[in-house]
This record gives sequence, structure tokens and C-alpha cells, in this order.
Amino acid sequence: MKCDYHVIVLGAGSAGLTVASGAAGLGAKVALVENHKMGGDCLNYGCVPSKTFLRTAHLAKDITNSEEFALAADLKKVDLKKVMQRVKSVIAEIEPHDSKERFERLGVEVFLDEATLIDSHTVQLGDKQITGKKIVIATGSTARIPPIPGLDKVDFLTNKTIFDLNELPDHLVIIGGGPIGLELGQGFRHLGAKVTIIDQNDHLFPKDDPEVWQVMKKVFDRDGVELCLQCKVKSVSQQDKLKTIIVEKAGKEINISGDALLVSAGRLPNTSGLNLDKLGVKTDKRGYIITDNKMKTSIKNIFAAGDVTGPFQFTHMAGYQAGKVVPNAILGFGGKASYTMVPWTTYTKPEVAHIGYTQPWAEKLGIYRDSLIFQLAEIDRAKADNDRDGFLKLILGKKGKLIGATLVGEKAGEMIPIASLAIAKNMKASAFASVIFSYPTQAEIFQRLSFEYMKRSFKDWMKKLIEKLFL
Ligand SMILES: Cc1cc2nc3c(=O)[nH]c(=O)nc-3n(C[C@H](O)[C@H](O)[C@H](O)COP(=O)(O)OP(=O)(O)OC[C@H]3O[C@@H](n4cnc5c(N)ncnc54)[C@H](O)[C@@H]3O)c2cc1C
Repeated sequence: MKCDYHVIVLGAGSAGLTVASGAAGLGAKVALVENHKMGGDCLNYGCVPSKTFLRTAHLAKDITNSEEFALAADLKKVDLKKVMQRVKSVIAEIEPHDSKERFERLGVEVFLDEATLIDSHTVQLGDKQITGKKIVIATGSTARIPPIPGLDKVDFLTNKTIFDLNELPDHLVIIGGGPIGLELGQGFRHLGAKVTIIDQNDHLFPKDDPEVWQVMKKVFDRDGVELCLQCKVKSVSQQDKLKTIIVEKAGKEINISGDALLVSAGRLPNTSGLNLDKLGVKTDKRGYIITDNKMKTSIKNIFAAGDVTGPFQFTHMAGYQAGKVVPNAILGFGGKASYTMVPWTTYTKPEVAHIGYTQPWAEKLGIYRDSLIFQLAEIDRAKADNDRDGFLKLILGKKGKLIGATLVGEKAGEMIPIASLAIAKNMKASAFASVIFSYPTQAEIFQRLSFEYMKRSFKDWMKKLIEKLFL
């Protein structure tokens, strides 16, 4: 079949942009379709605005806590409008990199339109149709709005609207204690708002190692973030600006009222209008597109990447999957996606970073042998920085090799690649003992853990032998 393009990419977020530039770089004729903003969620409503906002929020926390550092600074006023202007200015600074103009310079034809799939090669754009040999669906995800009675009659915020707030709420109530709710909730608390996070689970950070919650619960309590756990939202209503959320906890009803309500109760794939059923593109029960490890869907010329495929909804995963789509879609061969060594970081204060297997996950798969933990508070630099909340946990597989790591600490997201590299290189827990770390750094925690491991592995008979032979 003769087509207008080698590849049509639907969605210009992290996944779609990576596929489009990669395919154009290989010489393919590429069309990229975006129905909203170039750069997708990460640039406009996700990573970039949230991390910019959190930088200000966490600085506010340090100012409020300045006495810890022997200063008496005062957080006089929080002008949220200015905070959000800074957020927008950082987005504007990054925007040109993801812009239509830049992609056109890379040789990609960009259409700012709603894409509808007509058949496995044809995309409808307004009143015109374009055809592609390969189609890549990279349409991302949107905040899931749970079917709570009354919610449709209430002004609530999502990640798409919260960065438009101009005034600091007195009391921000958050439905959903996943990474988005936790990061933003703690951030607003640091700026001075009262914050209540409602979640139906009995603990948060459920995908991380269990020790994470033990640390982070204390942190949230100390910060004054109110947690309503094992709380099921029954209904929501609004009078003037005040929103009232009725929750059920242990058979009792509790009313929680606030002047702002954020819904961060999970994500749903953006697939409406794509006619996936009609085309025979298989999805899972939540509607996420199912792909094989070459990112191919159940239709052989249609690929998918990024949040729309479900499992790990991170920008780096969108980029990783897109990197598998490019060779597989253009050349017909290329690498296979694997999800065993996925890093993630929750950008709370302290950060929670993870790579590879958690202990419960490894135990479930029967590949767990041992784990080691070292507390951050024992590291000299952490004492100097007063960053005492946290730890490093290394997970060892059956052959004693590193298969996972969890790090909680102010700089955890920046340090976790040390573990990623050691895991990728098939190293053991002693790996960091022979590396010279600058003193004093928080990264020394890796070396201290290696020393602990070596001490632990040193058996009594070895000590006796040394005593006999050398002492
Ligand atoms: C508040 C928040 C904070 C986050 N922080 C982080 C973080 O710190 N680190 C991290 O790794 N991840 C983070 N994420 C997740 C990250 O934003 C996503 O994983 C990433 O954006 C997924 O990229 P994507 O390309 O799959 O989808 P998207 O970025 O959502 O892009 C999809 C694009 O497709 C477009 N589209 C949809 N349907 C159509 C259609 N029919 N026709 C044409 N275009 C269409 C959409 O408008 C969108 O622009 C965060 C997310 C949120 C919400």
C-alpha cells in the first residue's frame, strides 16, 4: 500500500516526540499529530511545573525551619501568583525544545489537530485524511475522575489546573495519595496551607519497600500533613467556596471541608476517538493499550508507547519505550522492552528513589536472597546538612548480585543512578567498597553499606585463620 508517510505519530508528549525525532533521524517521512500542546503532560502539566513548584515549596520549608541551621529567617508572605509565574517561565524556557518549529526543522510534518483512526493506516485530521505505513499511538493519559456522588457539581482541581491557582488555599483537600497527591500536598503544606490527603489504603508508597512508609509517615506527621487513611470518599458538595468531602472510615462518617480540592486518584489512557475496538487494537480492562516487548500492538503496523500503554507512567519510560518503537517500526528489528530495571523517584522532601526489584516483589518471584539497610543519619555529610531522614536499602538476588535498591534522602533521585549502574553491571553488594567517594558526601552511604556487607560476610573461621597466620 502506498502511503503519505512512513510513520504517523499520534501525540506530541515525551513518547511521541522521541519517536518522531528518532524516525526522522533515520530518514523516515514522519507526521506528528497533537491536539493540545506540544510537549504533552510532562512539560505543561506534569514533571516540569511540579518540580519547579516543589523547588519553591521546599525552599519555603527550609526557611521556616531555618533555626535548625542557626538562622532566624522568616517566611513573610507566599504570593502564589508569583510562584506560578515562575512555574510558567520555566515551562516557557523549555518549550522551544518541544516546539512545532523545532520538529519541522528536524524534518517532521506537524499537525495541530485531533487525530481519529479510520483504519490501521488512515488518520482523520479535521476534514482531511493522511495515511501512514506505521502508526504510533502516544496519546498519553489524563487524571482519572472517580465516580463520586456530587463531584461533577464541585470546582475541583487536577494536575491540569492546579498550576493556575493564584492564591494559596487555606485548606487543600486531596483525594488520592499517589505520587502526584503526595508531592503537591507536601509542597502546599510547606508553603503554609493546611493539607489533608485522603486515601483508601492503610499506608502510602505501596509500590515501594515497606521501610519507605515507616520513614515518610513520620515526615508527613512532622510536616503537619493530615492523612485520612483507610478512608473511602462517599460524596462531595460545595457551598460558596467551601467544598465538603464526606468519607467513611471504620464504619463512621467524617466531614472534611476545604477551600480547594485536588483530585489525584490515578490516571486513565487517552484513547477516545481512536476507534481501537473497531480496529482490533487490544486493551486491558482499564483501557490501556497492550503491546508486545517490541511495543507492537495486536495490529501489526500499529505501535504504542508512553502512558497510554500503562505500566510505568514516567517520562523516562515513555522515552525508553519510544526508543524501542523507532528501530522496530522503521527497520523491522531492534531491542525489546524490559521492565525489571525501572527507576522511579517521588519528589517529596526527602525524595524516595527506587531501581529494580523491591523486596516484596523479589520475594514473590522467588529471586530474593537478602537485603541490607544503612541509615542516612549515620553519614557525616547528612549530619552536616541535617538531612537525617532516610536510608539506603540494597536487594540481593539468589546469586548474591544486586537486583534492586531503594534510597530515601534529600538527594535520592540524583544518587539512585549509582545503584542502577551497579545493577546493570551485574555487581555484588561489595561493589562500592573499592570506589573512592569524595568525603563528605551523602553518596558515601553506598560505600558504608558495602563495608557493612563485607563485615557481615566475614566469617569467624576467617578471623581465626588470620589470627593464626598473621597476628
Ligand atoms: C503532576 C505530574 C507530575 C509528574 N511528574 C513526573 C516526574 O517527575 N517524572 C516522571 O518521569 N514523570 C512524571 N509524570 C508523568 C509524566 O508526565 C508522563 O509519564 C509523561 O508525560 C508521559 O508521556 P506520554 O508521551 O506518554 O504522554 P503525554 O505527555 O500525555 O503526551 C500525549 C499527548 O498526546 C496528545 N493527544 C491525546 N489524544 C490525542 C489525539 N486524539 N490526537 C492528537 N493528540 C492527542 C495529548 O494532548 C498529549 O499532548 C508526572 C505526571 C503528572 C501528572
